[in-house]
Amino acid sequence: MQTSTPTNIQGRIHSIESFGTVDGPGVRFVVFLQGCPMRCAYCHNPDTWEINAGTPVSPARIMERYERNKSFYKDGGITVTGGEPLLQLDFLIELFTLAKKENIHTCIDTSGIPFTPSNKEWTDKLNTLMTMTDLVMLDIKHIDPKCHKDLTGCPNDNILRFAWYLDKKKIPVWIRHVVVPSITDDETYLYRLGWFIGGLSNLKALDVLPYHTMGKAKYEKLGIPYRLEDIPPMDRPTLLLKKQAILKGIKDRRNQQPGSL
Ligand code: SF4
Repeated sequence: MQTSTPTNIQGRIHSIESFGTVDGPGVRFVVFLQGCPMRCAYCHNPDTWEINAGTPVSPARIMERYERNKSFYKDGGITVTGGEPLLQLDFLIELFTLAKKENIHTCIDTSGIPFTPSNKEWTDKLNTLMTMTDLVMLDIKHIDPKCHKDLTGCPNDNILRFAWYLDKKKIPVWIRHVVVPSITDDETYLYRLGWFIGGLSNLKALDVLPYHTMGKAKYEKLGIPYRLEDIPPMDRPTLLLKKQAILKGIKDRRNQQPGSL
């Protein structure tokens, strides 16, 4: 197998999970990249935020790690997540080039925040990356611009434009959304989210995830204030009800019948 390419590109890697089962189809080799410009209040990986941290690792080295257990990934593949993987396009292009030589399924789990269509050089690289990407898992944190800013510290306009870009490129997309009690569970907004994603022709799946508090300990360890201190975890029955609002938005968009909740 081709695992070595003479290049100096190295990714800043936070960690690797050898047997991921929630980051794309099948059992996956999951690479967590270091660095994220967002500050989602519910983020359970605040240790991935710092952009200049992480361990430098070459794409060839990552492929060697993949190779060790490759029989496990026959129905899965490689997922890059983070942190924010799209901050490291050169690394991703080289990693996915090696992966595609071996016919490995490739997936990017992203918030879409780095999408910068006005930057031609960046967009050219993104276009190249998309030619070797089989699936994008796009996390839409909140459909409302102001609420999104409050929740993540960043606007959502480029994230939504990124969704349309993927649609135009016909890249299969899974949309992910975390439902947080009193923060992202307003059914009017969830319906609007559904209305937005119902317009995407490349939508393959919708993951509606419950907020949990398992990341809290990391904040204490890092000395970062936890903004959702008083927010309880999302329970499953409520989550299923909330998901219905999104599904109704998708259905109405596809039938072009704006509904009301
Ligand atoms: S985009 Fe992901 S890694 Fe970045 S702050 Fe939000 S949840 Fe955390």
